[in-house]
Amino acid sequence: MHTNDAVFLEDLCPKFRLRQWRKSIHRFTGKSCIYCGKPSESIDHVLPRSQGGLSTTENCVPACLSCNGDKSDENALYWYRRQKFYDPRRAMAIRAWLEGDLRLAIRLLQWANPNFKVSSNNYEKDKSEYKAA
Ligand SMILES: [Zn+2]
Repeated sequence: MHTNDAVFLEDLCPKFRLRQWRKSIHRFTGKSCIYCGKPSESIDHVLPRSQGGLSTTENCVPACLSCNGDKSDENALYWYRRQKFYDPRRAMAIRAWLEGDLRLAIRLLQWANPNFKVSSNNYEKDKSEYKAA
């Protein structure tokens, strides 16, 4: 797959595909907010779209509405560092996610939250589904 294929995913893919993709993002974290661990209700652009952030898996993380709204158009890592629920393991996970290393990101999130359950089988499946899309 050409790397640029993912860049315009949101523009090019039918709505159904987009919904599947959003679902798979939530599944990566067991439907929990990557910042605070509460149930994820939205997809947050780590680098805001207003600053050229793309709708790619690397730039989109599951977030609760509270974090997503509070962060607004700020850089996620700067914003996150000021939060009461800041956890360096989560910060590392966000960084790994941005680098496209979802496997490491998920492992760090599991470390931050022992109750967090994601089967690696799901992860493998999602990854290939995303690639196929
Ligand atoms: Zn949150």
